[in-house]
This record gives sequence, structure tokens and C-alpha cells, in this order.
Amino acid sequence: MTARRIDGKAAALALRQQVGAEVARFRAATGRAPGLAVVLVGEDPASSVYVRSKGKATREAGMESFEHKLPADTSQETLLALVDRLNADPTVDGILVQLPLPPQIDENIVITRIDPDKDVDGFSPVNAGRLAIGLPGFVACTPLGCLKLLEAELGDLSGKNAVVIGRSNIVGKPMALLLLSASCTVTIAHSRTRDLPEVVRGADIVVAAVGRPEMVKADWLKPGATVIDVGINRIEAGPGNSKLVGDVDFAGASEVAGAITPVPGGVGPMTIACLIRNTMVSAARRERFEIDPAL
Ligand code: NAD
Repeated sequence: MTARRIDGKAAALALRQQVGAEVARFRAATGRAPGLAVVLVGEDPASSVYVRSKGKATREAGMESFEHKLPADTSQETLLALVDRLNADPTVDGILVQLPLPPQIDENIVITRIDPDKDVDGFSPVNAGRLAIGLPGFVACTPLGCLKLLEAELGDLSGKNAVVIGRSNIVGKPMALLLLSASCTVTIAHSRTRDLPEVVRGADIVVAAVGRPEMVKADWLKPGATVIDVGINRIEAGPGNSKLVGDVDFAGASEVAGAITPVPGGVGPMTIACLIRNTMVSAARRERFEIDPAL
């Protein structure tokens, strides 16, 4: 079998265009644009790239992007004071503090300080709790993007066996909760799981969020399974060259799976599309503006 390649780039573009159309309606009705504030502390190169692409996507959707760049030696107090100002600013609908933060700052304290109703990254304890008990809130962008890809591929997920490999707070755990709300039978596997290949073999849906290059092999998969590869790993590819690979052996898995996301071009683009989606949803909730419930 040759797996269908799930095109996350195309799905992300379509979602971004949908958000753009909602933004235009929102602007016409309220006289203002939804606003996303992104805070970057220090100059970590990967974080700088993410922040730039988030700003670009925000502007392209017709939203306001407020970018706050603070030096690496910023104190926790100064950062919290900025979060407080953004919480109080009526033109800001979403606040995102780019992680990781420098060692003098406690990430949990900062994330907890963000108004949960502006926490478009969905990392705060309040939004994690809302997801756990099925209340409306904000869901972390990467797992939300994975769910959208799965629903587009499979339609109703009810009754399917899903295995999520990885139990981080930003990907694995919220992913498992989303699949549970979609009525899947969910297994969360992690570094202490016994006989991982056997666990994965029972899955109709596999979500790999580990951070280990090409760890999931073809013979771990049930024929026809749908595979979502969240991993982003840079590996050497010849002298002086490197390339990005996922957590799944893409070439091998493509011979067994029914459908699979590539890396790059799978989950990655959906993460940013979901961020602007969440910002639009936040603006709509704050202004009591009705948006397309399918967004
Ligand atoms: P993390 O390091 O916080 O968590 C990794 C998880 O993998 C842990 O829960 C651990 O238990 C599990 N694990 C480690 N070794 C294992 C093994 N041998 N067998 C089974 N499980 C094992 O990572 P994270 O933040 O969840 O990210 C995971 C991957 O996803 C990384 O490659 C990261 O770069 C990528 N990522 C991609 C996006 C995106 O937008 N595409 C967003 C976030 C993270």
C-alpha cells in the first residue's frame, strides 16, 4: 500500500484564508482588527524565526500584530508587568509568550499570569483544565492542528483506537484529551511504555510527538493506519548539510500506513494557522461577534 500524503501546507493555507475572511467581516462590524501580541525574550535563533513567521501570518490574515522583543537579561518582574499591560489592553485579543524563557524566569508563573481568555496558545492551567473537563477555552495550537488534519482525513473519529506517543503538556497530553473528546479509545505512550511497537500496532491513528528522528518504524504500524508526525528533528545529511525529519520513518511508513503527514509540510504549518484561528475566536468572544462555528 502507498499511503496518501496529508498535505498540511494546503490545509493550513485553506484555514488561514477562512480566518482572513472572518477577520474582514469582524473588522467591518466592529471597526477594529483582532490583535495578537507576541513576546520574545532574548535572541534564540529558532524562537526568533517562529516569532517572525507568527507576525507575518497574523498580518497576512488582516490582524494587528504587536511584537515585544525584550533583552535576554529581562527580569521576571518586568516580563510580568508587560503581561499585565497586555491583559488590560482592549486592542489585544491574544497573548503569546514565546518559550523557552531564559533561566531567571519561571515559565509557569508567566503562563499562569496571562488572562486565560487571551491565552491563545492554550498553555495556561485554566485552559488545560477546561480542555480536560470539556469546557470551551483555548486548545494548544499543535494538537488542535493535528485534530483538524485527522478530521479532514477520516471524518468521524468515534470508536477509533488512537495511540499518542509523548506526554508533554503542550502536545501529547492535550492531543490525547482532544482525541478522547472525539470519542476515540486513547492510549498515551511515553518513554517508560513497555513494548511500544506492540502498543502502536493496535492503533488506527498514531500521533508521534517524541523528538526522536525516525523512531517509529514501518513494522510498528497496522496496515492502513493514519499517521500524524509532530516531530521536528534536524539530522546530518552529508558533509556540511542537514535536513529536517519527523519522529516516523516516512519512507518505510508510507508503504504500510493509509495516510501520513510529511515533515516538513505536515503538522508544522497547521500550528501557525491554528494560532491565528484562536486569535480570531478570542476577538469574536470578546466582542460577542458570531463567527463560522466550523472555524
Ligand atoms: P517533549 O520533549 O516535551 O516530550 C517528548 C515526549 O516523548 C515525552 O513525553 C517522553 O515521555 C516521550 N518519549 C521520549 N523518548 C521516548 C521513547 N523512546 N519512546 C516513547 N516515548 C518517548 O517534546 P514536545 O514538546 O512534546 O515535542 C515533541 C516533538 O514535536 C519535538 O520533535 C518537537 O520539536 C516537535 N514539535 C513540533 C511542533 C510543530 O509545530 N510541528 C510543535 C511542538 C513540538
